[in-house]
Amino acid sequence: MARYIKSVCKLCRREGVKLFLKGERCLNEKCAIDRHNYAPGEHGQRRSKPTDYWLQLSEKQKTRRIYGVLERQFRGYYHKAARQRGITGANLLVLLERRLDNIVYRLGFATSRAEARQLVNHGHFLVNGGRVDISSYLVKAGDTIQVRDKSKEMPGILSALQNTKTRGFPEWLTLEIDKLKGVVTSIPTREEIDLPIQEQLIVELYSK
Ligand code: SF4
Repeated sequence: MARYIKSVCKLCRREGVKLFLKGERCLNEKCAIDRHNYAPGEHGQRRSKPTDYWLQLSEKQKTRRIYGVLERQFRGYYHKAARQRGITGANLLVLLERRLDNIVYRLGFATSRAEARQLVNHGHFLVNGGRVDISSYLVKAGDTIQVRDKSKEMPGILSALQNTKTRGFPEWLTLEIDKLKGVVTSIPTREEIDLPIQEQLIVELYSK
């Protein structure tokens, strides 16, 4: 599948917010947006007044980049969210949060969603005891996510977990760190998703 392979820090600078795409680097003084908080490129420091369309498009791009989802798949999530009961924007974010790669990241088995996606794709995780290597797999309340026995000594996973002790993880997940096992105790509400996203702008964009 096509992936963005240029400097991901440029994406944060373009959106003007931290998207947390580079693991530990995002939390220390090397973060590019902390050092240069303006868009990349020759004219990056001259932002003109944004139009409504630009704001909507930008919010959609930002959200897509946070979760590492391509346009077509993102649009699919939107249509699924629109068919569900409730507020479409909130439904959309909840669907994105339920992705297995996001859960692996949220539990602290990886330092970024991109890293989590790679670990899932390489088959390092079990969901309810069965191997799942599809990063877009949608978890449900009560699902358990566990590192496979053969992957339990992986330095990347163990060092990411060390950082979780300081970073913490959401209340809708529980983690048994000694067993490398997490449980989705509930599906998050919009209020429990701590991301600076104005999802109604995305809904406005797609409803045109
Ligand atoms: Fe974004 Fe992380 Fe790069 Fe900072 S270090 S600009 S948060 S990807």
